[in-house]
Amino acid sequence: MRKPFIGGNWKMNTDSKDAVELAKGVAQKCASLLDKVDVSVCPPFVYLAAVKNAIGSAKVGLGAQDVYFEAKGAFTGEISCTMLKDIGCKDVIIGHSERRHVIGETNELINKKLIVAVEAGLLPIFCIGELLEERNAGKTEKVVKEQIQKGMAGITVEKAKAITIAYEPVWAIGTGVNAAPQQAQDVHLMIRQFIASMYNEDFAAQIRIQYGGSAKPDNAAVLMSQPDVDGLLVGGASLKADDFAAMIKAAAEAKK
Ligand code: PEP
Repeated sequence: MRKPFIGGNWKMNTDSKDAVELAKGVAQKCASLLDKVDVSVCPPFVYLAAVKNAIGSAKVGLGAQDVYFEAKGAFTGEISCTMLKDIGCKDVIIGHSERRHVIGETNELINKKLIVAVEAGLLPIFCIGELLEERNAGKTEKVVKEQIQKGMAGITVEKAKAITIAYEPVWAIGTGVNAAPQQAQDVHLMIRQFIASMYNEDFAAQIRIQYGGSAKPDNAAVLMSQPDVDGLLVGGASLKADDFAAMIKAAAEAKK
C-alpha cells in the first residue's frame, strides 16, 4: 500500500508573513491526518527557514522548489543540496514544468540535479508532463517516457526509492483545467509500467506517482480515487490552508 503524498508548491508566492501563517495553518488543519498522508510544503527559498520554524514539531515536510547540481563555489544565485539539508529540507522539486519551459531546463540538467539530490539523501519530487501540442499530436507517452529515461539515467533502484514522480501535464498547470481522472490514471499506469521495465515490478509497485495540474478541493477525491494516483502536487490551491487541508483529507479518505 502506497502512502498518499500531497505536496504544496507555493511557487514565487507569499511574503514572509503570509508564508509563516500559511505553514502554521497547514500544520494545524491537517494535524490529525499526518499519520495517513505524507504532506510537504515547498515555499520559496528565502522563506524556507521561517517556514521550518513555523512548522515546528508538526509532521509536515519541508521542500525546496529546485536545487543546483554543484556542491559549492562560483555559481551565483544557486543553492546546493547541502544548503537545503542544512536548513531542514527533506524534499526537493526537480524538473518542474515552469523550470523546463520558462527557464529552459533540459532532461540532462534535470538528471544531474536528481543524481546529486538522491546522493545527498534528499527526496526528489521529479516532475514530468507533456505540452498541449504534444498531447494533441499523440506524443504524451513518448515525451513522458523520454523525460523519465533521461531524467533517471544512472540512478540505481536503491537510490530511485527516494524519488516521487509527479505527472503534471503542462496544459493543466495553473489553467483551471485538470486532466480528467481517467486521463491521469492512464498516464500514471503507463508510467508505472515503464518504471517496471526500467527497474523492476517490485519497485514499480512501490514508487509514488503524484498528479499535478489544477488539482483543487472539488476534484481531489475523484483524482485520488484512481488506483495509480498516489498523491497530488498542488500549486494554486496550496496557497490557502483550508483548501490544501481539504485535499489532504480527500486523499486520506480515498486511500482508506
Ligand atoms: C504545479 O505548479 O505544480 C501545479 C500543479 O500548479 P496548479 O495546481 O496551480 O495547477
